[in-house]
Amino acid sequence: MPSGEINRGYLAFIRRIGLRERPGGARWLRRGSSALLRVGADVVRLAMLPLLLLYGALLVLVLARRARRTQELPDLHRDAIGLAASFLDQYPMHPYPAIAKSLELAFLRRHLPASDPGAPPTGPVVELAVGEGSFSERIFPPGAQVTAFELNPYSLVHTMDLPHIRDRIVADALDPPVAPSTAAYVVCNNLLHHVSDKERTLSAWSRIGERCVTNENTTAWAASWMLPGLLSRLGMGRAARSTAARIEARTLQSLRTLPDLQGLVRTDFEVEAEVHYFHERTFFLAAVCSALLVCKGPPTPALPKAILNGPLRLLAHRLARRLVETLIAYDGTLPRDRDAFVSWRLRSRHVDRLTDGPLLACPDCRSALSGTRCVPCDQEIPSVDGMLFLLPRRMREEVLGGYRGPSAALGRQHL
Ligand SMILES: [Zn+2]
Repeated sequence: MPSGEINRGYLAFIRRIGLRERPGGARWLRRGSSALLRVGADVVRLAMLPLLLLYGALLVLVLARRARRTQELPDLHRDAIGLAASFLDQYPMHPYPAIAKSLELAFLRRHLPASDPGAPPTGPVVELAVGEGSFSERIFPPGAQVTAFELNPYSLVHTMDLPHIRDRIVADALDPPVAPSTAAYVVCNNLLHHVSDKERTLSAWSRIGERCVTNENTTAWAASWMLPGLLSRLGMGRAARSTAARIEARTLQSLRTLPDLQGLVRTDFEVEAEVHYFHERTFFLAAVCSALLVCKGPPTPALPKAILNGPLRLLAHRLARRLVETLIAYDGTLPRDRDAFVSWRLRSRHVDRLTDGPLLACPDCRSALSGTRCVPCDQEIPSVDGMLFLLPRRMREEVLGGYRGPSAALGRQHL
């Protein structure tokens, strides 16, 4: 499969945003669906809300004994429990993203020096696929001076008020326009699972930076959702696998097994730190809540989110916090054989030491760019709304041409 596959998906996504259509979500919420069905999904969500709270409370009761033994937990899980409460507003009673992001963030806090407000600067930090920055701002302190890359200008435009970002670049994260050996850290969260040609992408990342901090989903990710999880527990292995394959395709993912991924990163990198987490069993228990909210991944659907953060806040937040902390603690007690997530800090095999030249490079001819003009190509790099559109010619027309300014963007998606 060509490495541009995910970009094609995102270009379609950008066009939909341009048309003020809701991206992602369940199939019936997509383009061409009727408002009636959208209302129908919200009616189901409302009807399911008491069940969601009841299920959450039962889960906390059943798993509570395990959750008490936090001293025996792995460091990552203990750290993640301390971070869980900060995700409640973004994901109320929506434990899947709250658990995943608490664990991801715990890894980053431990293994990315640039995330430590007290640490001395480590050199240029590049964050790829930064989105609208809601996760990025949890990683980096305000003075971090991150150069943020994102293909979707409607997402990137939301990062304007984030003080840790110095420059905003609309660019292809699979082949970043960064000069070789210039970044101390290349950070990329929650993108690689969307990339089919992972070899080529990891190779590109390994040439531009000394270290790379990234994560990936394993095949356990698709297998853990409620329907494939149920089918597999009923002994219907083949149906479970085909359902998981459909989920993988629908969420634009390209998943590999953990051993495959572990081999893959070692081609271009030495592994400095590797942690895998969020076992298939924990994931399945969390995914039941997603099913009751009629959604898969983030964002949390707006209507239940408004109710759980509004009139039901006192009850829902207390319960949601216990639920997420309990599930993280439960996850920490499981064998690490069927984990859905893996995080790495990697050291490039191709970068011996950093060069002092300009960080950015022309996406067409790859010359280092000291300003916004590429002399060899005789072209000015377009800058719109505080974002540099550093895209190869073939993509520039579509992304910049389809960009209608910040007013056309949706509100924050909080992915
Ligand atoms: Zn050029």
